[in-house]
Amino acid sequence: ARKKLIAGNWKMFTLSAGAAQLAKAVADELTADENLLVAVCPPFPWIASVAAVVKGTPLLVGAQDVYPAKEGAFTGEVAPEMLLDAGASYVIIGHSERRHVIKESDSLINEKVKFSLASGLKVIYCIGETLAQRQANETNAVLEQQLSSGLAGVDAAGMANVVIAYEPVWAIGTGVNATTEQAQNAHAFVRSQLAKTYGENVAQAVLIQYGGSVKPDNAKDLLSQPDVDGALVGGASLKADSFLAIVRAAM
Ligand code: 13P
Repeated sequence: ARKKLIAGNWKMFTLSAGAAQLAKAVADELTADENLLVAVCPPFPWIASVAAVVKGTPLLVGAQDVYPAKEGAFTGEVAPEMLLDAGASYVIIGHSERRHVIKESDSLINEKVKFSLASGLKVIYCIGETLAQRQANETNAVLEQQLSSGLAGVDAAGMANVVIAYEPVWAIGTGVNATTEQAQNAHAFVRSQLAKTYGENVAQAVLIQYGGSVKPDNAKDLLSQPDVDGALVGGASLKADSFLAIVRAAM
């Protein structure tokens, strides 16, 4: 059976003291569970301090972005090696806020995925349709396109370090989560696409998280779907109580 991964995407929230407190409050309540992975993804400036706070606990640390180069004249950017050095093991790539607000291209996203994997980071690769695309019945076509462009050049071995996060854009920060049926259908479609490209064994092993208004009161239903292998949590990850309630729903 696949493990589950519950990851908190803190987005552009928290200052240093709040970040350390939040990480400590989560880490203090976590017990090692071989079927469950739990991570928090703070803003860049707090990655090292959060990693220090959670050291020796099961809580993992991720970053929210990365630049696809070892080092160089890339003002404002952060390299995979720096993230690893700061204590991150995961990086979120392709989040809808970076696609739509920051206007990242498919090719930059693909470079980030490939370079991060080659550098030893685990990648949480986000995909998802907008409301207009869903209403136009384009959901599967969008997911297929985002999978093929973002994962171009990633081989079956590389997929061992890739988690897919299905995040319908219309569910992010809106309080309107996908129904269990919508989530399961999308996840099953994603897995079928992965099977076409990488074969059934790889597809069965890849974790597919759901993201978009996951809260303590809907987490259990979403996480009980057969192809929902965890959650990527935004707003509800900023309070230890609600994030821990979602973690417990995955147990
Ligand atoms: P919310 O949980 O706030 O809807 O955010 C989801 C998300 O974008 C996680 O990456």
